[in-house]
Amino acid sequence: MSYVTHLECAACAKHYAAGELHNLCECGGPLLVRYDLGAVKRSWPRDAVSDGPSSMWRYAPILPVRDRSHIVSLGEGMTPLVHARRLGKQLGADQVWVKDEGINPTGSFKARGLSCAISMGCELGVRKFAIPSAGNAASAMAAYAAAAGLEAHIFMPRDVPQSNYIECKAFGAHVTLVEGLISDCGKMVAARKDAEGWFDVSTLKEPYRIEGKKTMGLEVAEQFGWELPDAIFYPAGGGVGMIGMWKAFGEMEALGWIGPKRPKMICVQAAGCAPIVKAFEEGKPRSEFWDNASTVASGLRVPKALGDFLVLNAVRESGGTAVAVSDADMLDAGVELATLEGMFAAPEGAACVAALKKLLRDGFLKPSDRVVLYNTGSGLKYLEAYSVRFPRAAAGEQDKLGGLITPR
Ligand SMILES: *Cc1c(COP(=O)(O)O)cnc(C)c1O
Repeated sequence: MSYVTHLECAACAKHYAAGELHNLCECGGPLLVRYDLGAVKRSWPRDAVSDGPSSMWRYAPILPVRDRSHIVSLGEGMTPLVHARRLGKQLGADQVWVKDEGINPTGSFKARGLSCAISMGCELGVRKFAIPSAGNAASAMAAYAAAAGLEAHIFMPRDVPQSNYIECKAFGAHVTLVEGLISDCGKMVAARKDAEGWFDVSTLKEPYRIEGKKTMGLEVAEQFGWELPDAIFYPAGGGVGMIGMWKAFGEMEALGWIGPKRPKMICVQAAGCAPIVKAFEEGKPRSEFWDNASTVASGLRVPKALGDFLVLNAVRESGGTAVAVSDADMLDAGVELATLEGMFAAPEGAACVAALKKLLRDGFLKPSDRVVLYNTGSGLKYLEAYSVRFPRAAAGEQDKLGGLITPR
């Protein structure tokens, strides 16, 4: 069912065999899955895509799982692409669209990557998975491991959103809360994985999460009738979604499904953790470790991304740019999007709204451009962050805030 030929290092182009477990290349670069796209082109026309299931697995011929029985799916993908007319009107742009990834299982687009990675783990005989996570990747891994009946070992910062901690516990994962950031969690997994027999599913340290996330790029093309938009706003932590979409565009062109035109890829980060924005502005090929990373957008709290050079390449090759947004602007934009469109976005997704405003204001984008904002998660996962905007009075004090009066 799959057309995988081999794995290839994104840094040094060394090949590795498919069908066996790999983490990084020996040079330290991330591995990408390669397919026999000529064979796919001959046997799977674009029009056949809609015969597949209403999930990201409709693209199975260009996903890595060979035996369909290994797929672990909770219905991820084929998320709505919503025309945000009222927001657009407010901003003076009439082609603003939101791809709402908050609808996915576990409330974020991490479901796509982990559905693919856990499915491949099943195919290759993994029994125990380990992940360092800023929050949502942990929730997704815990859910898919639970669905597959396999062990999940999770390392995340002590101050992750409450939703992530509770989900992981409810899904029966082994959870370790770490005094530190995702980078510290990653060191703990690396130190223990060999002795414990864990397969490390850290961002970009295995080749399959990217394949799941690339389906965001396939879907946006399919949903626009096999045309790409003029710009894509993506909130980048590790940058996997951006790298995956960029890979998907290249594969679709090789299949003859789209032409050479690419959207401007806009990398959005938090002002309190913006290593890729800094590297972009300084014209550097890679980012540097960001000290004291801090933001309510937990998915963006990644001080150094392994695939930073791939994100920077995609942004530069596409004629895009990189924008940092403050936490206050994110929360305001999140409330604005919710009020105008009825969509409650994660602060990461809301950051794209704030970034769009900036790029319309400074003329980088035209009001007629068709833009897609990726809302990567549901606002419901970030109640602590949003409660700053909507404090509730203590019992008996509600009338002061103009709220309900408790019956006496
Ligand atoms: C993980 C995450 C991101 C960042 O994703 P990357 O692919 O690591 O760049 C953005 N938003 C949310 C809600 C996330 O959970």
